[in-house]
Amino acid sequence: MNARRFWVWATLVLMAGVVLALTVTFRRQVRESAKSGPMVGAKIYEYSGSFPALFAAWRETGINTAFVSPALQSNPEFRGLAKKNGIATFIIFPVFFDAEELAKRPDLFGVTDQGVQAEESWVKFVCPTRRDYLAGKIEYLRNLVRDTDPEGISLDFIRFFVFWEMVYPDRTPESLPNTCFDASCLESFAGKTNIRPPAELIGTPEIARWILANHLREWTEWKCGVIADTVKTLADAARKIKPGIKVNIHTVPWRSDDFGGAIRSVAGQDLARLAPLVDYISPMCYHHMVKQTPAWVHSVVEDADRAAKAVLIPSIQVKEAYIPGPESPAEFKAALIEALKPPSRGVIFWNWSSLAESPEKIGAVKAVLESLR
Ligand SMILES: [Zn+2]
Repeated sequence: MNARRFWVWATLVLMAGVVLALTVTFRRQVRESAKSGPMVGAKIYEYSGSFPALFAAWRETGINTAFVSPALQSNPEFRGLAKKNGIATFIIFPVFFDAEELAKRPDLFGVTDQGVQAEESWVKFVCPTRRDYLAGKIEYLRNLVRDTDPEGISLDFIRFFVFWEMVYPDRTPESLPNTCFDASCLESFAGKTNIRPPAELIGTPEIARWILANHLREWTEWKCGVIADTVKTLADAARKIKPGIKVNIHTVPWRSDDFGGAIRSVAGQDLARLAPLVDYISPMCYHHMVKQTPAWVHSVVEDADRAAKAVLIPSIQVKEAYIPGPESPAEFKAALIEALKPPSRGVIFWNWSSLAESPEKIGAVKAVLESLR
């Protein structure tokens, strides 16, 4: 064999080797993703019954991940049984919703474009640029992760103020509250953009109107930056205590163009910007309360997938809330089927106690999960 032939053969053998290696790797990835299956999660805030019975019910239903309150995760019996039963636990961690702290320190309230406190019914929001408040949250998160060793954290109320649970499809973008126009946020906005309202404007409504009319694009970018920076700060703090901890965020169930792009301009949630910072994004697709159909659940996931490269796990509503029901078992099952359609990688039930009280809905979950096997 002359030298030239040798090199041709060597190149061919090398290329065949590379193709073989890629094929083996690809097959293994496909096998592993099939083995891991979808995340099937349940949100649970309070529980006073028997823990062994709870875990038996989860295993029986097909729940493999629990999204729990800090109080529940702090219970050693609960944690021990979660490990023993192979149920991953994520701590639901409310960021800018803190009624207790606001009762003590009303100066922390966010301020709307109307110049009033960011408050509607039980939804009371802290201003998202108060460093002292955030420092307290970071410390609390560090301690929770260190003391209770969860598989993940699930950042909730990680947005600017809006009571989206009562925002229906006929709502106009202008009627949604825009926040936060307190001194702390106006200073942060000016620092980032060099945009300062003219001195002759008097009072928050006038200043807010001027910003929204003349600098909505910069205002929206700044808001999305505040939320992304907060997510990064909290995720970094948790990962520093427990490298490899998973981070999920709860997002408002609005598609990119809904209400004039309010997911960014009102909530400050820019999915493309948030995706690289977290492991999962979980839109709260509670269709029944916002007067939508089960098919809408999938449309929210599809839109999020177009907006961002993220692992999407929609959360769905199990039982009626805010508006008269009922959410029937058939309607719940339809929403579950929609929630599991690709590109979704699972589903999270809001919430476990509503599911546990309905044998028909439990049956629907089992049947739908069985059909995926
Ligand atoms: Zn503020």
